[in-house]
Amino acid sequence: MTTDRYYVTTSIPYVNGAPHLGHALELVQADVLARHRRRRGRPVRFLTGTDGNALKNVVAAWAAGVPVQPFVDENAARFAALREPLVLSVDDVIRTSTDPRHAPGVRRLWERCAARGDFHRRRYTGLYCAGCELFYAPDELDDGVCPEHGVQPEEVSEENWFFRLSRYQDELLRLLESGTVRIEPAAKRAEVLAFVRAGLRDVSVSRPAARADGWGIPVPGDPSQVVYVWWDALANYVTALGYGDDGAAYRTGGSSPPTGCTSSARASCASTPSTGWRTCSRPGCRCRPRSSCTTTSPSAAPRSPRAPG
Ligand SMILES: [Zn+2]
Repeated sequence: MTTDRYYVTTSIPYVNGAPHLGHALELVQADVLARHRRRRGRPVRFLTGTDGNALKNVVAAWAAGVPVQPFVDENAARFAALREPLVLSVDDVIRTSTDPRHAPGVRRLWERCAARGDFHRRRYTGLYCAGCELFYAPDELDDGVCPEHGVQPEEVSEENWFFRLSRYQDELLRLLESGTVRIEPAAKRAEVLAFVRAGLRDVSVSRPAARADGWGIPVPGDPSQVVYVWWDALANYVTALGYGDDGAAYRTGGSSPPTGCTSSARASCASTPSTGWRTCSRPGCRCRPRSSCTTTSPSAAPRSPRAPG
């Protein structure tokens, strides 16, 4: 028995259509994990949600001849309605396009990365699959078509903000190799390690607002761009914990912050979510090592967000 909090999340699906059996499977699997940990006496927080800001949703709404907002709302409600028939023990559901916690958290994450010099803006030309919302390198295609959708990606040339992922290669490798960040099962860990060792490229993290029909979260300081949906959506795992809320950073469902780790100190370290506040070296930061946080109070902060099982 342990007082370690257990945070279990699902991926958050696009709401460009109705839920299908695959969504139900993932929700039930996550529910099994949550129930198991609760029965073992651990404080559990089980989060799921939907990704409302994807360009894919916009395209699907156009195809259906429906304005985007009601289209997204209706489909999101269908996902939320799975809770009853599947008897899910979820603690929290986040809808990225409407939840008041989300956009402030995404802006905060962006601003903190910007302050560290993590972004640069440049023109980019690439092969883009609208279905995946991804640029592909030619060698990633199957005979010239998207391996996921079987369609030929279109050549797109536009201005994007890029995240300097390459500068984090060594740090990521160290975290993975040392087991500070654990990936299970072993085969997936090996896959991720191989990917990082092969060299990380900087990634595009914004889209022209005009192409997205204004849908999405505007880039702080550059309203001509919206935050790319993968950046926006993945932030849900921390925005649902109150990352964007100055008054209650990383709140843990009403419990007070653990001794020796004030919410302001924790928030000031949140710019490095991969390491939490353990290795924060900002001048004047009052952060304590995580170990001291989790042992001084049973209401310790949640563990770092993790990908579903
Ligand atoms: Zn595709």
